[in-house]
Parts: sequence; structure tokens; C-alpha cells
Amino acid sequence: MTARRLDGARVAAQIREELASEVAVLAAAGCRPGLGVALVGDDPASAVYVASKTKACAETGIHSETARLGADATTAQVLDVVRGYNARADVHGILVQLPLPKQVDTEAVLHAVDPKKDVDGFHPENVGLLVQKRPRFVACTPAGVMELLRREGIDLRGRNAVVLGRSDIVGKPMALLLLHADATVTICHSRTRDLPAVTRQADVLVAAIGKAGFVRAEHVKPGAIVVDVGINRITDEAEARELLSPKRFESFRARGSALVGDVHAPQVEAVAGALTPVPGGVGPLTIASLLRNTVRSARWVHERSASD
Ligand code: NDP
Repeated sequence: MTARRLDGARVAAQIREELASEVAVLAAAGCRPGLGVALVGDDPASAVYVASKTKACAETGIHSETARLGADATTAQVLDVVRGYNARADVHGILVQLPLPKQVDTEAVLHAVDPKKDVDGFHPENVGLLVQKRPRFVACTPAGVMELLRREGIDLRGRNAVVLGRSDIVGKPMALLLLHADATVTICHSRTRDLPAVTRQADVLVAAIGKAGFVRAEHVKPGAIVVDVGINRITDEAEARELLSPKRFESFRARGSALVGDVHAPQVEAVAGALTPVPGGVGPLTIASLLRNTVRSARWVHERSASD
């Protein structure tokens, strides 16, 4: 069997096209959606993520601006940026790019974001609303995965879903969304015993652990739908030879590194029914969800002002 490729990039492009039309309508009505970004420190991966998010905003017609602070920024300085965005009527969404430098109190910063502008869905108020199945803003990666599954016509009702990873950003909200879609959900983590026996129960397996090529054929039930959230940069040639297609291996040799997921794609492709690629799977959907949350936020503001 060769797994069907779940083309996240294509679905994300579709979502962005739909959003661009909505943005045009809102802008014409005087409410152009706006995203305020805080980028703190000099982590190169964070800079790349922010660049792709702001580029996607521009392509969709969303205004975005980025406040940049140095690696020695204090909590108070980051809070000032957040509070500035909170106070601005033209900023509908706020994104604090993580991770923050270690001297900055991440929890204090995320809690300071106005919950009505919290397009990353990390504020406790939005987490609570999600738990109660009254979602306002849902964390972008799990929201993107659900949109992909929905648009691919994958019915989750009564199916066994296993989420590998229990982070606040991916694993936990992912499990809640699958639960709300009536899947029977199991969450695994580093203390789970006999992991392959648990993951082999999954009709839908979501891998979000941050370990290159960790999920192998032995973890996957034949025919399962496998969603690979992981983004890992590999630099080891033997690992690259094992995980990459011959074509991607050639480009690895030229560049010295490559991005791979948490799934051992060559092995799992032979067992699974469907698989998301890395890159080009969940990553673009995460960005599309961020845009969608920002547009929604603007729409809600516009609707409130229209009804006042
Ligand atoms: P975290 O490091 O916060 O969480 C990892 C989770 O995986 C933890 O719950 C950990 O368990 C679990 N885990 C680690 N090792 C094992 C193991 N050997 N067996 C079972 N469970 C294990 O990571 P994130 O959730 O933030 O990210 C996960 C991956 O997704 C990363 O590769 C990240 O880069 C990627 N990512 C991709 C995004 C996208 O847009 N595609 C967006 C966000 C993240 P425990 O809790 O017990 O420690």
C-alpha cells in the first residue's frame, strides 16, 4: 500500500483564497484586519516563522506589523508591546512568537494578551472556552489539522484517534478538538507504556513530539490516517539518507540540512492509508489558521460596531 498524500499546502492555499475575499469585503467596509506581532530575541527559526506569517498576511490583504525586541528584552518591555497592541483598534489579532528568551516570563506575557485578540488561542480564557466546546480562538496548528481532515472528507465520529504529545500548543487542544468531533481519543506522552500497542489502535494518529522519524511502521495500524505535525531540522547524513526521498537527499547534500516530521515517512507510507507530508502538510495550515483567526476577530469587531 502507498499512503494517500494529504496535501496541506493545497488546502491552505484554498483557505487563504477564501479569506482574501472576506478581507476585501471587510476592508471595503472600513475594517481592514490587522495583526500585531512581537518578535523577541534572535532565534533564527522564530524569525523565519514570523517572516512567513507576515508574508501570508500581506498576500491575503491583512495588515501586519512586527515589533522587534532584542535577546536581552525584559518582561516589562514585552508587556509594553502587548499592551500597546491591546489598546489599538486597528489591531485585531496579537501574536507573540514563542519561544521567548528565558528571562522573560512567558506566562505573564501570554496572559496579558487581550483574550479577544488572542489569535493563537493560548490565553486561559480561550483554552477554557475550548474545553467547554464553546471555542472562540483555537490554537492554530490543531485547528489547521481539523480543517484538513474536514476538507478531506475524513469522518471522525466513533473512530479511535491517538494524539502523540501533550503540549498546551498542539497535543492537548488537538485531543479536545478530536473529542468534540466525536472521536474516541487517547493521548500519549513520554511516560506511556508500550507506545506502539497504543498507537496501533489509532484510525487517526496525530504525531506531535518533536523527534525526527520517531513514528515507524510498527506504530501504525494498516490503513490509518497519519498526521505529522513535527518539524525537525536534521543535519546527519545517515539519518537524512534513511528519512528522505532520493531527490530530497540530493538537496540535503547541497544544503547540509533538511526538515523532516516526527513520522518515518518511507516506512509509514507503506502501511498508512493517508499521510501528511513534511514540509507542505500541517505547517501551511497553521499559518492559514492564524489568518483565519485574525479575520474572524476583525469580523466580530465589525459586527459589534455595526450593531451598536
Ligand atoms: P513539546 O516539546 O512541547 O511537546 C512534545 C510532547 O511529546 C510532550 O508531551 C512529550 O511528552 C512528548 N514526547 C516526547 N518524546 C516522546 C516519546 N519518546 N514518546 C512519547 N511522547 C514523547 O512540542 P510541541 O507540541 O510544541 O511540538 C511538537 C512538534 O510539532 C515539534 O516538532 C514542533 O516543531 C512541531 N510543531 C509544528 C507546528 C506546525 O505548524 N507544523 C506548530 C507547532 C509545533 P512529555 O509531556 O511526557 O514530556
